[in-house]
Amino acid sequence: MNPVYAALGDTIFDVMSGLARETGAINLGQGFPEWDGPEDVRRVAADAVMSGPNQYPPMRGLPALREAVAEHYERLHGISLDWKSEVTITSGATEALAAALLAVLSPGDEVVLFEPMYDSYLPMLRRAGAMARFVRLKPPHWRIDPAELAAAFTGRTRAIVLNTPLNPSSSLITAEDLALIAEQCVKHDCIAISDEVWEHCVFDGAQHVSMLSAPGMRDRTIKIGSAGKIFSMTGWKVGFACAAPKLTEAFAKAHQFLTFTTPPSLQNAVAYGLSKPVAHFDAMREQLARQRDRLATSLMHEGFVTLPAAGTYFMAVDLAASGIGLGDDDFAVRAVKEAGVATIPFSAFYSGPPETALVRLCFAKLDDTLDRGVERLAKARQILR
Ligand code: PMP
Repeated sequence: MNPVYAALGDTIFDVMSGLARETGAINLGQGFPEWDGPEDVRRVAADAVMSGPNQYPPMRGLPALREAVAEHYERLHGISLDWKSEVTITSGATEALAAALLAVLSPGDEVVLFEPMYDSYLPMLRRAGAMARFVRLKPPHWRIDPAELAAAFTGRTRAIVLNTPLNPSSSLITAEDLALIAEQCVKHDCIAISDEVWEHCVFDGAQHVSMLSAPGMRDRTIKIGSAGKIFSMTGWKVGFACAAPKLTEAFAKAHQFLTFTTPPSLQNAVAYGLSKPVAHFDAMREQLARQRDRLATSLMHEGFVTLPAAGTYFMAVDLAASGIGLGDDDFAVRAVKEAGVATIPFSAFYSGPPETALVRLCFAKLDDTLDRGVERLAKARQILR
């Protein structure tokens, strides 16, 4: 087996969800909503399966969806894209990330990553023969230290991978910090692979700022989005990669031999969904923010300390500040087995020495699930203090 994969275990999300299924625990771990996405969007997909065509769509995606992606980002985020030369449809953001890394990297290249990070980046860039250099973001604000960032770039740096809003810390990279990244990318002639799958899940009136709009980055950014996150249907696996024509050309070459295409019925439905009025996306945000507040308030009543959650589906609990001396891995395993609630330890998001006092909870759940989850977390706190 290739040593990159030989060294990997199963992802923590599968492990914790597996334990939750086995033990009948409440699953506040893996990030999927407990509701099933807009009915009208699902109806378009169902009708499209029946009416067809169900044969290979174009490699870069259905024109209707590529146009819808460009229209959507122009209308919601003020980003102007030429759908023909700057948009590629992928089978989820996971595929887009893999295609971007394969398209850009050669063996021996270096890539700058922020820690904590989503777990697919590191194995995929290693599989492409590249090496990672890490910049650490620290709680509770998760801001970039300019000196640390500058030190991570070398003569061999080819790309940087960033994620805003950031999973698992639920923080947004500020426009100021995006400008810092842009400055280094321009100085070192690097590509930014910008994982923006949580772009619609930002709360409290904040606006998502794309790396594409950072100074000097329009031609050196591959922006990645996910319909799974935009429509609360994580199983759909429809992603978008937006980049200047030259980068899109390279990206599409990698994509054509990863999946080649994505089911046309789902592409049609996502095209329909992206054209919904802004009010639809605002309502989704508001619902998520309500669930976030419900979880934060009930955790606080039970003596837990949580970190601010400005975006994503997630909230971090500070175990140490909540009076729990256990490390996050031990807490997560014991909480699921002894108190019946699954969480995700932050350690899973680090390559180097991790933050060990934080666990991640998903608040995209129904009221009753959140309430029962908190009861069980309170039980875990009592047992494990
Ligand atoms: N990037 C980040 C930061 C994510 O949180 C996720 C999903 N949890 C993905 C990428 C993958 O998205 P998709 O399901 O569209 O492949």
